[in-house]
Amino acid sequence: MMEFSENENQKMIRDMLRDFCDKHIRPKLMEWDESQTFPREVFTELGKLGLMGVLVPEEYGGSGFGYLEYVTAITELGKVCGSIGLSMAAHNSLCTGHILQFGNEEQKRKYLPKLASGEWIGAWGLTEANTGSDAMRMKCVAQQDGDYYVLNGTKNWITHGISGEVAVVLARTGELLDSRGITAFVVERGTPGFMAGKKENKLGMRASETAELIFDNCRIHKSQVLGNVGDGFIQAMKVLDGGRISIAALSLGIGKGAIEASIKYAKERHQFGQPIANFQAISFKLADMKTRYEAAELLTLQAADLKNRGEKVTVQSAMAKYYASEMCVYASTEAIQIHGGYGYTKDFPVEKFYRDSKLCTIGEGTSEIQKLVIAKNLLS
Ligand SMILES: Cc1cc2nc3c(=O)[nH]c(=O)nc-3n(C[C@H](O)[C@H](O)[C@H](O)COP(=O)(O)OP(=O)(O)OC[C@H]3O[C@@H](n4cnc5c(N)ncnc54)[C@H](O)[C@@H]3O)c2cc1C
Repeated sequence: MMEFSENENQKMIRDMLRDFCDKHIRPKLMEWDESQTFPREVFTELGKLGLMGVLVPEEYGGSGFGYLEYVTAITELGKVCGSIGLSMAAHNSLCTGHILQFGNEEQKRKYLPKLASGEWIGAWGLTEANTGSDAMRMKCVAQQDGDYYVLNGTKNWITHGISGEVAVVLARTGELLDSRGITAFVVERGTPGFMAGKKENKLGMRASETAELIFDNCRIHKSQVLGNVGDGFIQAMKVLDGGRISIAALSLGIGKGAIEASIKYAKERHQFGQPIANFQAISFKLADMKTRYEAAELLTLQAADLKNRGEKVTVQSAMAKYYASEMCVYASTEAIQIHGGYGYTKDFPVEKFYRDSKLCTIGEGTSEIQKLVIAKNLLS
């Protein structure tokens, strides 16, 4: 049976992050957004709070929390700044999560303490310029040469592509379109032949760094393979099952921020001699935003709860990610409408929620891909 009330750890994380955001994020977020600065120091501080290894067991230097605490942390960050929430989620779920789930003991001891403390930040490279949704067609190859693999190719849209000290990279070791033809490697920054490429200039999530990873005859020792050769694609899909819960949580954060700002504004703004909240056209918007928010929250908590219990969550995390991300785009669009012309300026937070929200329907699988996953399950 699903438990809806917050546990003590969730309350502690919420309180801690409220203070943290007031001190370290709110004062600077618009400056980072404008200049597209990735504030690396914020993640060092989040590491000190145990939030760079939320799901990592304590024996590897993490906090040893479950998915409910993880959802709370990302939602709380996303409510203030989507970019910080996105980077924190990508670091925890993708790079760190992949090593945690599929690394051997030696790899876990080597990388998890550094990642969980925030000393290192992690990247995860699946997407390429021509293969986003259709990741199985990837071109990046890893050719075996004795005890080494030689990586050649480019990964695009990679969160922390420049700043990440370590990346988990998916590359082809077999035939095109063979789901057993892809392998995951851990690659450290500084490995010859591994370079960062172009940084993307984005609509939103501008303080979360997104860049290319370039591999040019990059030799990687076979000890850097995660799990078995040929298992990379299947591993990546499992990593995304958890990752999609984090994007649902991020969407909740953005939705919550948009709703809170809208309630405040609707009560304060007067037109025709009364607060605009008195107009049913406005209050019904708020009612719709909040109802969709709570539905999204329930789906997200359901997925988190199943994941904590070790059950398969492919469909539930796809539903949570799909519904919550569409909710946050809807809520932030309505938030601008409620704010009128002021909502269209940078004097209020809702234009940023609006720009940031759109990533949630795209990253870690678009809404269309989530629907494919859900429909395939229904029809199988
Ligand atoms: C800010 C940001 C950060 C990111 N971070 C990472 C990261 O850290 N690591 C990583 O590997 N990737 C990352 N990505 C990549 C992201 O996961 C991809 O952008 C996403 O999977 C979509 O791929 P695409 O952009 O190539 O779109 P495409 O796959 O080209 O899709 C274009 C459109 O076609 C639709 N479409 C495609 N196929 C189908 C189909 N079969 N049926 C119906 N519709 C379809 C899509 O839904 C979409 O609307 C990031 C992206 C962004 C924007």
